[in-house]
Amino acid sequence: MSDQPLTEGERPKADLLLFGGLVVTMNPHWEVIEDGAVAVHKGEILDLGPSRELLARYEAGETMDASGAIVMPGLVNAHTHAATSLFRGFADDKPLKQWLEGYIWPAEKTFVNQERVRWGTLLAIAEMIRGGTTIFLDMYFFEDVVAESARKSSMRVVLGEALFEMAGPSHRPFPDALAFNRHLLETYRLDPLISVSVQPHSTYTVSPDNLLRAKDLADEFGAVFGLHASETAEEVAGVRQKTGHSPAQLLAHLGLLDDRVLLFHGVHLNQTEIAVLAETRAGVVHCPEANLKLGSGVAPLPALLEAGVRVAMGTDGPASNNDLNLWGEMQMASKIHRGVSGNPNAVTAREVLAMATRVGADLIGMGDQLGSLEIGKRADMILIGLDKPHLVPMYDVYSHLAYAVGRSDVDTVVIGGRPVMRDRQMLTVNEDEVIAHVREIGGEIKHWLDAR
Ligand SMILES: [Zn+2]
Repeated sequence: MSDQPLTEGERPKADLLLFGGLVVTMNPHWEVIEDGAVAVHKGEILDLGPSRELLARYEAGETMDASGAIVMPGLVNAHTHAATSLFRGFADDKPLKQWLEGYIWPAEKTFVNQERVRWGTLLAIAEMIRGGTTIFLDMYFFEDVVAESARKSSMRVVLGEALFEMAGPSHRPFPDALAFNRHLLETYRLDPLISVSVQPHSTYTVSPDNLLRAKDLADEFGAVFGLHASETAEEVAGVRQKTGHSPAQLLAHLGLLDDRVLLFHGVHLNQTEIAVLAETRAGVVHCPEANLKLGSGVAPLPALLEAGVRVAMGTDGPASNNDLNLWGEMQMASKIHRGVSGNPNAVTAREVLAMATRVGADLIGMGDQLGSLEIGKRADMILIGLDKPHLVPMYDVYSHLAYAVGRSDVDTVVIGGRPVMRDRQMLTVNEDEVIAHVREIGGEIKHWLDAR
């Protein structure tokens, strides 16, 4: 609300008033406002309602005509490695173990430094904004550079330095990487755009002792704790051989599961493990395209939802997917499980949309601030123009969003009340500059690949 008391006849101020749109709030009541408006002040949603009422009620600093467009919350990408955009398509068609050990990890050791993480992250941010993603949970190296890149782009991010025991590109042994993560947690504690999580890579690359240390750090700051878990059958067998437990069982055994824990992938989970996740309120980030492309399998999404496990949507890194397109993930999630189960209602349009918005925000620890358009939440919104052959007529907006809308249909993106893309013009990322730098880096990587 306005900082100054209003004198009679004076209208409260809104920095931005968006009007005339079909406002799909994604709130728990699935409210949709036709010819709706959203008033934004100081980066937050001040009011929502019919355009006529809000236009009369507020004095707007700036207005945005959303006629003919859907207005909805920005999408939440709950698992990615943004800067691996540099490695997109460089070693496809291989199983995960060979892909990681033969290509990704050696290439990362050779090429990943702060400068390259900067350009790779900026490239990924541009791709995400263009596709309507307004926050991403990132696990990579040099996450301070990821923070700078996000801030420069007015993009929202949840950082997490990739915590490994083997030497990585940032050459930080585990205790140093953990200390660096602590530094990130302290530095960005009150940042409006940047949040910090704790992300050990997995149960097969980090020992139980170090997993416990990492969780202690997360708990000290009330931060989200995320890791790859049960992505492939081979991984599950390996961890079982080493520890006597599957990855999910090991996490339960160590007492690490609670409502601030995220398992990335969760492809190979049995009913007992699913019940434990439901009981502990730990979440799963579903990344169906990466799982399919790497031949890892199909996660038991219907069983997870049935058991009441909270599931978010993630793209995984663009080197394994090969894009950062949550619309594609939603389509895949809604369809693959029907094909596998033979049940045409195995996962509904509303369920996948909730995963990519409200539930995703909840799982990354920001359910009170993001994921739906509600008064008091941060103003992260996207506009999807409907005047297109593949989007008329429209009988059910959720059907359109889940099955017909694609990332190039996102016209305008607002993060924290600030437009970052307007009518497909990028406003905070200099794409030409980023693309030129990434082409140059790509040339060096190609040279290395050719010599292998
Ligand atoms: Zn991943």
